[in-house]
Order: sequence, then structure tokens, then C-alpha cells
Amino acid sequence: MTLAEAAARTSRLAVTATPSAAPPTKAPRHEPARAFGERPHASAAPPPSEPPPHAPRRVAAPALDADAIVALGPAECRRVLEAAGVEVQTALDAPESVAQPVRVEGAIGGVELRLAWSRDPAHDVHAVFDCRLVVALLPAVALVEAAGYDTLEYVSATRRGGGRRSMHRLGLAADLVAVRKGEGRYNVETLYRRGGVERCRRGSMPRDVFGKMLCRGWRERWFHTILGPDHDRAHHDHLHVDLAPHRKRPSTPYVGLRGASAGDLPRSRRRDPS
Ligand SMILES: [Zn+2]
Repeated sequence: MTLAEAAARTSRLAVTATPSAAPPTKAPRHEPARAFGERPHASAAPPPSEPPPHAPRRVAAPALDADAIVALGPAECRRVLEAAGVEVQTALDAPESVAQPVRVEGAIGGVELRLAWSRDPAHDVHAVFDCRLVVALLPAVALVEAAGYDTLEYVSATRRGGGRRSMHRLGLAADLVAVRKGEGRYNVETLYRRGGVERCRRGSMPRDVFGKMLCRGWRERWFHTILGPDHDRAHHDHLHVDLAPHRKRPSTPYVGLRGASAGDLPRSRRRDPS
């Protein structure tokens, strides 16, 4: 199923997009992003033991890669989220195909994870995540926060039906479409600079938040699969990220680049799981 088809199923509200607005040029309230699992740089003065009450809560991403995350059992996963300050509730109305179904309650740090185009996200199946996918998304949410945005929008985690290979059926995939800062909404089409996969592969870091997400997600193994606008037309307006429980310890995640793989396995051994 393409994103457009998925969106058409859930789209009942017009999106208040403001694609012409300029994106934030700096992160006014947050420190720069650091590598997944990397310790913060030492500073001359010790940090205060408690942040001042007005300071925004920051996203705390655990140092786990996709292989470690997908191996988490239900209780372990909930403990990881609790330690990261992420509140979730068991999704009792989830399809049976989702092994560890949860809904995210409230913001993650200073970032809202928002289901786009839904009138009732509290009951919408597309807002059901496998707990482990929420863990995998934490560094991406931290990156969004560090870039100065306050919302990360997605159109679906779980989707009923669909292909048997789709990780959406398992609640282990998300389609990320936009970030917001206040009233400004900036979607993948507007922000993502084509060729980000190739720049990342050559060793440079894309400047836009979705390019960074793709590049760091690949290098630091946040996910098993990342597909974006460089992959094919179906992904021109979103990043598809997933965890694949069946994958046998890939040394690098599969990142699609115009039908080719930026990972290290020959394309003939890859299948498009979107
Ligand atoms: Zn997808």
C-alpha cells in the first residue's frame, strides 16, 4: 500500500500545512544532537543536578541498536520506556498481529508524536505501536527535539491487512511525514534534500532533519529498514522506518537509494518491506 492510499483511508481532515514557511534555522532551546549512545561532552562547570522547573524535558534515548531492541520482551520494553520517561498504555483494541501493542501517552521529552490526519488518534489503529518501535524511535525523536521542533508527525504505525511482509501489520513500522514548530509545519517533501542517502554514504551529514534522521539512523542502526524519497515514488513524501524481527543481524540497516541498497548486502537478497 502506498502512503497516499494509506492516507486516503484515514484522511478526514484537511491538513493545515504551511509548506512555504521557512523552517527553523537553529535550535534555540536545546543542545546539539549527539550520536546515539554517545556521552555528552564534558564541560568546565558541572551541570546542575536538577533542571530548573521551566526547562523542557529532554528525550532520553537508550543506547540500544535495532537488533537489541527487537529482542526485548514485553516487560523489558516497558522498563526501557519507563526509564526513558515515556508513558505508554497497553492498546487493548489492537490487532492480534501486534505482539506488544501500546499507545503513547503525552509528549516524549519536549516532542509530541502525533498521528496526522486523524480525528480520533486515541482510538485510531494507526496510532498503535509495538512497544519496541517506540524504543527505536527515541533517538529520532531526540534528534527532532535537538533541531528545535516540538512535534513529529506520522501517518501510520500499525495498519490492518496489507502485505504479509509489511512490518506495519506487526506495528513495527512507522511512516514519518513532517515536523512542527509552533504553527509551522514542515513536511518531508519540503525539508528533505534529495541525494541525502548518497551524501551520507560518502561520509557527510545531510543538514535537514529528515536527512539527518536517515543518515544517523543508518550509521547508528536505529532501525532495520529506512526508506525515503531517494528510494522510489511511493516514498516521495515520507520516511518509512521499521524493525524486522526476522532479519538476521544485518551489519547495516537497509536504506533504499533509487532502487539500490545503501546497505552492505546485494540487492538480490533484499526485499522492499514498505
Ligand atoms: Zn511504511
